[in-house]
Amino acid sequence: MPDDCHATNTASWLERVAGKTQRHLADRLALEAIHIGRGALEMAAFLGASESSARRRVLLVADPDTFDAAGRDVGTILQRRGHTVGEAITQAAPHADDETIDSLLPKLDFHPEWIAAVGSGTISDLGKVLAERAGARLLTVATAASMNGYTSPIAAITVGGLKTTQPSHPADVLIMDLDVIASAPKRLTRAGFGDLMSKPVSGADWLLSSFFFGDEPEPAVLGLVDDAVERARHHAEDIACGDLAGIERLCEALVLSGFSMALAGSSSPASGGEHLISHYRDMSAKGWKRPSFLHGEQVAVGTLCSLEIYRRLEELGAPQGDGSSCRRHREDSATPAHHQLTKSAREAVRLETGAKLALVPGPSARREALAQRWKELWSMLDKQLERGRGLRTDLRRAGCPTSFSEIDTPPPLVKELILHCRWMRRRYTVLDLAGDLGHLEDLAEEVSRGPYSE
Ligand SMILES: [Zn+2]
Repeated sequence: MPDDCHATNTASWLERVAGKTQRHLADRLALEAIHIGRGALEMAAFLGASESSARRRVLLVADPDTFDAAGRDVGTILQRRGHTVGEAITQAAPHADDETIDSLLPKLDFHPEWIAAVGSGTISDLGKVLAERAGARLLTVATAASMNGYTSPIAAITVGGLKTTQPSHPADVLIMDLDVIASAPKRLTRAGFGDLMSKPVSGADWLLSSFFFGDEPEPAVLGLVDDAVERARHHAEDIACGDLAGIERLCEALVLSGFSMALAGSSSPASGGEHLISHYRDMSAKGWKRPSFLHGEQVAVGTLCSLEIYRRLEELGAPQGDGSSCRRHREDSATPAHHQLTKSAREAVRLETGAKLALVPGPSARREALAQRWKELWSMLDKQLERGRGLRTDLRRAGCPTSFSEIDTPPPLVKELILHCRWMRRRYTVLDLAGDLGHLEDLAEEVSRGPYSE
C-alpha cells in the first residue's frame, strides 16, 4: 500500500476529515472504502477482496484520454490480481446522454460483476448508470477533481436534450490518486473548486424550498461540507497552480459534497438555481451557437449571480399585501418559448414547467407567507448566505470565471438564462423567489448588465 495513501473505510475517513461526530453518517452511505493520496491507483488491486471469490469480471469504462491517464494502469493492476477485465472505451470527449448509454449497453453482455469507471464527471456518471443496469458493483477512479458527483447516487444524464438527474448506483469504492489528478489539465481542477463553491447558495435554496414545502434540511447534512469548503477556500491559489496539498483539500470537500447529496436523497444540498443556470446554458449552447464551458466554470458564475439576486431581494424587502402591488408579476413568463432548445428538450421542459406550476402552495399563497414571515425567512437565509462572503475574490484566486462574459454569454442571453432556466426543473430556488415577488424581470435585466457581466 502506498505510504501516504489514506486507504480506509468510509466511517474512519469521515471521522478524520469531517470530525468524530460525523462518523455515524457512514452507516447511511453506500461507499465502503475511499482511497485518496499519492499512488492510490494501486488500491484498485484490492477490488472485491472482501468477497467470497476474489477474482472478478470487471468492465473498465473510460474515454481515450482517461484511459491514457489512468485506465490502462488500472486494467493492468486488476489483471495482475487475477481479475478478468473487459473494456468499454467511449469516443473522445463523450457526453453522458441516452445515445452514449445505448452505445455502451452491448458491453454488458460481458456480464461484469464490477464496473471500473475511470474518468471524471461524464465517465463517473456513465459508470453509475451501467452499474445500475448490470446489477454490478462500482469502482470509480477519478482522473480529475472537476466536480462533486463521484460519491453521489445521482447521475446527470441528458435525455432527449434535457439535462436530468437520475438516481443510479453510487460508487462502492472511490480512488482519487493525487498524482493522476494533479496531472489533469489545471482548468479541470479549477472547475472543481467552482462547482464546490456553489454550497452557500445551493444550501440557501434548499432552506428556501423548505420554508414553503417543508422538506427541512437535516442540520448534519446541511453543515457536513462547510468546514471542508472553508479549508479548500484557504487553498484557492494552491488549487489554481496544481499544488498537491491544495488538491487533496479540494478532493476531500468534493467527496463530502457528494455525501451530502447521498444523505439528503437528492441533489438539493449541492444544486440550486446556480446549477439550473449552468444546465440551461449547456442546453442552449447549440441553439445559441456558443461553446459550453466546464460545469464548474458555469456554476461559479451562476453562484455569484444567485448571491447577487439574494442580496437584491433582501434589499427590496417584503411584498406588500397579496402581491397585486408587485410591479411586474407576470404569470405569462411561466411559459417561455425556449426557442433555442431542441424540440425534444422544449417538450421535456414543458412537462417540468407543468409540474412546477402545480406545486402546492402556489404563487399567491407563497407571497402571503412571504409577507407574513419575511424576517423569519431572512434570519434563516442570512446565516447560510454569510458563507458566500468573499466568494468572488476566492473564485478569482482559484482562476475560475466570475462573469458571464468569461463564459461567452452576452447580456441578452444572460437575461434569457435568468428568466427561463427555472422552468427546467420543479425545484424551488432564488429565481422562483424573485419570480413570486415580481422582481425577476428587473433583476434579470440588472444582473445581465451588472458587475457579473463585466
Ligand atoms: Zn455541480
